[in-house]
Amino acid sequence: MNYPSYFDYNATTPVDPLVLEAMLPYFGPHFGNAASRTHVFGAKAEEAVADARQQLADLLDASPKEVVFTSGATESINLTLKGVWEASRHQGASQQPGHIITVSTEHKAVLDTCEHLSRRGAEITYLQPGTDGLIAADQVEAAIQPNTVLVSVMAANNETGVLQPIQEIGEIAHKHGVLFHTDATQAIGKMPFSFTDSAVDLLSLSGHKFYGPKGVGALLVRRQVPLSAQQDGGRHERGHRSGTLNVPGIVGMGEAAQLAQRHLPTEAKRISALRDQLEAGILATLPGATINGSREHRLPNTTNICFPGVDGELLLLLLNELAVSNGSACTSASTDPSHVLKAMGLSDDLAYSSVRFSLGRFTTEAEVEAAIRHVTAVVNRLC
Ligand SMILES: *Cc1c(COP(=O)(O)O)cnc(C)c1O
Repeated sequence: MNYPSYFDYNATTPVDPLVLEAMLPYFGPHFGNAASRTHVFGAKAEEAVADARQQLADLLDASPKEVVFTSGATESINLTLKGVWEASRHQGASQQPGHIITVSTEHKAVLDTCEHLSRRGAEITYLQPGTDGLIAADQVEAAIQPNTVLVSVMAANNETGVLQPIQEIGEIAHKHGVLFHTDATQAIGKMPFSFTDSAVDLLSLSGHKFYGPKGVGALLVRRQVPLSAQQDGGRHERGHRSGTLNVPGIVGMGEAAQLAQRHLPTEAKRISALRDQLEAGILATLPGATINGSREHRLPNTTNICFPGVDGELLLLLLNELAVSNGSACTSASTDPSHVLKAMGLSDDLAYSSVRFSLGRFTTEAEVEAAIRHVTAVVNRLC
């Protein structure tokens, strides 16, 4: 079988060969439980987890004590939204149920968790972005109420790559004594970030979006943030997340963090040049095509292109030399148009006719050139 060229790095990334190599001994001789304090098997695992915690903390300029290992961003997000909301109830600071502010273009992990909390009595405000996908810090400020317990705004959108002004938003939240969470799953490894210097209290991420393995992620939590655990058990991870640690996965994510830090200065430039080449090539031959979302405030690796008048289903079917997506992988089981593009004001038809191209570490210039020719040929056939 001939594999298509991979342009879907925002859905998942391949595991870097060096990551795989670092993980293998932890499936073999170093199989110990990191919580076993009485023998060398446990000590070896615990040491590896401590190293990985440091590697991840180094990438994000955080303290290793702020890192809570989870099974991925979905779990980190659930822990944050449910944990902060429940903790605010226990504190009894307000008789009213807590209020959460988020954005209609967030990942389903955030939106569905908010829906769940809403059924339990939480009040949720969904801010609407502009047609460029951006929200303004004033919109957040205007939505803050006396019972607001959390603002949750993603750092980078998985479908469009649009970057929200999270520093300004966090500062506004703090001015009003409200906690700030960001889903930074798409930003990690693609742009420099300092947790210490940021106005972020909680940050979610997933290993497989930056060349680590699937099924492992982390939540960064500042000290003193009240958070109710969502899983009871052995009180691992300072009581925030019980359950035996996924040692090989954590080791892999640590190695991936170290590689991301090493590659970042050159990689972001190389990939954004390729993305720009892809975009320019397509727009030059297909003048009807348009870019969805802000081009100025955007990840270096993502472009979301609309081909007006082209049948979206046929388009994806015929683009069989490329692995691309419309909408996010997590919701593409359904045939609904992208909720992100719709929130930005696109009609169902325009949302269906849009394709996300996301590039990464192993994308080559030859692949980009071939992609431009293939997209042009297919779209011309369908017009
Ligand atoms: C992939 C992704 C998630 C979910 O990550 P999982 O690894 O599936 O838990 C959450 N938010 C964003 C922005 C993502 O891209």
